[in-house]
Amino acid sequence: MKKNLLGMDAEALAGFFEALGEKPFRARQVLRWIHQLGQGDFAAMSDLSKALRDKLAASACVAAPQIVGDTPAEDGTRKWLVKVDGANAVESVFIPETGRATLCVSSQAGCVLDCSFCATGKQGFNRNLTSSEIVGQLWFANRILGVERKADRVISNVVFMGMGEPMLNLDHVIPALRLMLDDNAYGLSRRRVTVSTSGVVPGMDRLRDECPVALAVSLHAPNDKLRDELVPINRKYPLAELVAACNRYLEKAPRDFITFEYVMLDGVNDSEAHAREAAALARRVRCKYNLIPFNPFSQSGYRRSSPERMRSFAQVLQRAGVTVTTRKTRGDDIAAACGQLAGDVADRTRRSRRVLLKEVRP
Ligand code: SAH
Ligand code: SF4
Repeated sequence: MKKNLLGMDAEALAGFFEALGEKPFRARQVLRWIHQLGQGDFAAMSDLSKALRDKLAASACVAAPQIVGDTPAEDGTRKWLVKVDGANAVESVFIPETGRATLCVSSQAGCVLDCSFCATGKQGFNRNLTSSEIVGQLWFANRILGVERKADRVISNVVFMGMGEPMLNLDHVIPALRLMLDDNAYGLSRRRVTVSTSGVVPGMDRLRDECPVALAVSLHAPNDKLRDELVPINRKYPLAELVAACNRYLEKAPRDFITFEYVMLDGVNDSEAHAREAAALARRVRCKYNLIPFNPFSQSGYRRSSPERMRSFAQVLQRAGVTVTTRKTRGDDIAAACGQLAGDVADRTRRSRRVLLKEVRP
């Protein structure tokens, strides 16, 4: 069995080279080849000796998951369907904006947590992604975009807001994060890599200790009664525990606030009373609110709050001195918006392929 080097962080790779009887600095060279130059072929790594290249070819590989669908949206957002094995595919979404470009990555195929408004949750849990499958989404995106735009390192920000709950897969998420931050790999700033969690408290503590990056918490409800219903993990880690974990996280976080994501569900969590409760919560932890218009999917059973309702919710927060932004919905015409990702459905693959074919044809 050849070792896949794609998901190994600097320490793991140094260990690998040591076991081969090579100097640990080889790890740095190979990291740069793989992640900065997008090179997956050892034969092309010209600053390694021929003997070492042969040794690597015999014992290792650089294997990224395959991109089997590429769907462009009207607004420049682009969704890639990433096949991770015969039975599973996940989705990554590329979101270009002026001055930055964000890649939204998946950390699991499916999700076990089953939040009531989320398409990924509805599909159930299939498996954790490996670190190479996670970082492979960035590797591939840079390759595709770099080739197309004749520029490397196109992506400036990464958010773990695709499919899955990253805090339930930290064994693989942490090495992927370390690669994203490593100057010999992607060199992203900690402030520009955001992990989003529905509130898995032990995971938040572990991330804080092992690899603190920007943190977003999917709040969605300002009291336990409603949050128990919308985000079932709240029954295990209720708001008081979540707020305490946020405050512990802030001690080591690269930003001095937590982003509270709040999906706006018409008539469910969007009243003025909810907004006042949300403002009160903001007095217990340094945070900013990010209101997300609910993105519908078939049989979700929810409706998006009206723009007026969203505005008055935001106003209550602002008057209480809380910073609040409203997320612009991107890519919803291709089901690439928050909560619409459900990668593994077979006929979706065919649909993506159709779009791709249509696009490349003259
Ligand atoms: N599991 C993690 C990260 C993935 S979800 C988490 O829950 O935070 C990324 C964001 O999309 C979360 O804030 C999630 O609550 C939100 N989301 C899920 N379904 C949505 C939907 N249908 N419309 C809008 N946002 C949604
Ligand atoms: Fe899982 Fe996040 Fe969706 Fe909840 S919102 S089901 S935690 S992916």
